[in-house]
Parts: sequence; C-alpha cells; structure tokens
Amino acid sequence: MSATLPPAPPAREEAQAILTINLGALVENWRALSRIASTAESAAVVKADAYGIGLEPAVQALLKAGCKTFFVAHASEARRTRAALGAGDARIYVLNGLLANADVARSLIASDATPIIGSLEEWNAWRTLAPQRPCALHIDTGMNRLGASADEARVIAADANASAIDLVMSHFVASEENDNPLNASQIAAFESVRGWFANARASMANSSGILLASKPHYDLVRPGYALYGGNPSPGSSNRMQPVVTLEAPVLRVRPVKAGATVGYNATWTAPRDSVLAAIGIGYADGLLRSASGANGARGGDAIIGGVRCPFAGRVSMDIIVIDATDAPSEALAPGAIAQLLGDQITVDDLAARAGTIGYEILTGLGPRYHRVYVG
Ligand SMILES: *Cc1c(COP(=O)(O)O)cnc(C)c1O
Repeated sequence: MSATLPPAPPAREEAQAILTINLGALVENWRALSRIASTAESAAVVKADAYGIGLEPAVQALLKAGCKTFFVAHASEARRTRAALGAGDARIYVLNGLLANADVARSLIASDATPIIGSLEEWNAWRTLAPQRPCALHIDTGMNRLGASADEARVIAADANASAIDLVMSHFVASEENDNPLNASQIAAFESVRGWFANARASMANSSGILLASKPHYDLVRPGYALYGGNPSPGSSNRMQPVVTLEAPVLRVRPVKAGATVGYNATWTAPRDSVLAAIGIGYADGLLRSASGANGARGGDAIIGGVRCPFAGRVSMDIIVIDATDAPSEALAPGAIAQLLGDQITVDDLAARAGTIGYEILTGLGPRYHRVYVG
C-alpha cells in the first residue's frame, strides 16, 4: 500500500501565518553579489529547498536572471532543480557527492548533475559508474568535514582521467569573520593544490567569502545565505534586500492587570497593566521556542500597527503572545496582521534573539504557512 503524500501548502483562508517571498529581491541580491565578484561567475546555492523559500521558484527566477550554475546537497534536490530548469543547459553540482553508491550515481546521471567528489573512494566509484562524465573535486582546507585531503588530491591529479575534473573547490570555516587568520591559511592550502588540476575552474567563496577583503573569488563564487537576504558581513549593515516576509494574524486581544502571567510555566509577568495579543504562529511553524520572551530576557518581536512588540512568555506550538500595550488600539483586533520577519525584522535579528543563526531560521520556515511569491 502506498501512503498518500502530504498536500501542497494551505490556501490563504485556511492558513494562519503567511510567508511572502520576494523573488525580485532574490534576483537583485544575486546581481549585487555577481557585481562584487566581478569577473568570476556567480552561481546560486539552492540546497534545503533554497534555504526554505522554495527550490522551484528560486531556480526559475535565478535562471531567468542569467544564473547558469546551481549547487544542491542531495540527489533529490538535483532532480528537482533539473526539472525546474527545463530545457536550459545550466550546470548542477551536488555538494554531498554520490556516497560511492551506484543508485545515487544513477540518479545524478538521470538529472545530468555533477557530483562533488570528496575522497579517493568516491573518485574511483564515479570513474567506474560514469566514465564519460565530469565531476568536481572538493579539497579540504581545514573544515575536516567533507573533501579530499591533499594526499588524496595528489593521487587523483596523477590519474589518467584527472581531466574529467572541471571544478576544484574548497569551503571556508569562518569567512564571516574578516580578520580570522583561518581565511588566509585556507586560501594558502587551496592555492597549493588547485594548480594540479589545470583544466578545472576554481571556487572557494560562499556568501561571506565573496566579501572578504582578500577577494578569493577565483572563477566561480557560491552564495547561498546572502541571496535569501541574510547578512553576509555580520557587524556591518546588511547590503542585501530582505526576501522573506512572515506575518500572522491576531487571534485574541486581552487587557490584563499588572502581575498577570502569560503562557506555559508563567515565565513572563506583566510589569504594568497591559494589553496582550495572541498571534497564530508557534514553534510548529518554525518560530523557534528559544525566541521566547521572559522578564529581563527579551525574545523575539512582532510589529503591529507599526510598533515593535516583544514576545511575552513561551512560544507555544501554534501561538505566541506579545505585549501589545504600546500598539495603537485600532491595529489590535482579531484578524489584524503582525509581522514576524520582513523589512523591519531581519532573519539575522530574529536569529540573534533565538540564540541561533539566520540560516536556521530560514531553513526552518514551516509547511503550514500559506506561501505567496511576488516580484
Ligand atoms: C552551503 C554552502 C555554500 C553556501 O554558503 P552560504 O554561507 O549560505 O553562502 C557554499 N559552499 C558550500 C560547500 C556549502 O556547503
């Protein structure tokens, strides 16, 4: 018996929170990064459902803007990317490789996707399973996660088939820290190996790497986070446009006396007579519980009627409560819309309040949202 697959996201009238994705801003961000990368080609990293915004619309908008190279993590993402690309001849690179597994290799071949090889074992498997096909080589320069060691790369470079490698790449450990000495040592390690692959293009930079003062752009840059509006240079103002707007409706407005507590475990106590608003979004929607607000420990915010209102108490599964005392009363009624993410609250802001990074906020965007694509 085959199970019924989950349905598409809910319609507007059935949903509570609404996620609006600005594909025009996505394209502008890609263009801005392309300009900074100057002569290097700018690819787009669309793994994890394009960081939560939806792989197919992201791929199609970027293709139309002129993006020719896409990076995904999984074979299933390569398949979806190829289908979204249609007839075009764009390249798809698969970061997690083929696991030296024949079934994965078959899937990649069917998607005309190129694995990024990270070990001798994977290299030998791809040469056997797809002898005519190119691949990329990931060289580890200090992450100690994926990627071939310099010794493995030396063996592969000496192989009669080494010209099948059309891209050599590595990945920064801390490129969002411009002064971190690891950046320079990783670049030096990459420099010492990439010359062994004379036919291959070179790639090193993720979003933050593109903005490093040393400009390690090589032939191809691989932005992900910044495309989706994340700040690639924490500490400096964000030059990217917000792509994601998240809004949810007020369900109930409740005036309370000073001393009233809110939510599970009563972690927030009204310091004055207050107006509370219960909003229809919770941790089951990807609004992290670690963004809860307690007295003396500010959590997330919502904007309502143009006023920034702090979360009051625990984020629960389907609901948060905000302290809306300072919001204009005409903006406070069931069905009124509160903004959780958008032009006034960035993914980086919410992440900081939740003790995480914006990458986790974006990739956790939930399946219960009604999704609207604009731009
Ligand atoms: C995810 C990933 C990227 C994109 O990184 P961002 O920081 O999101 O720009 C680039 N390269 C590799 C190897 C990755 O895994």
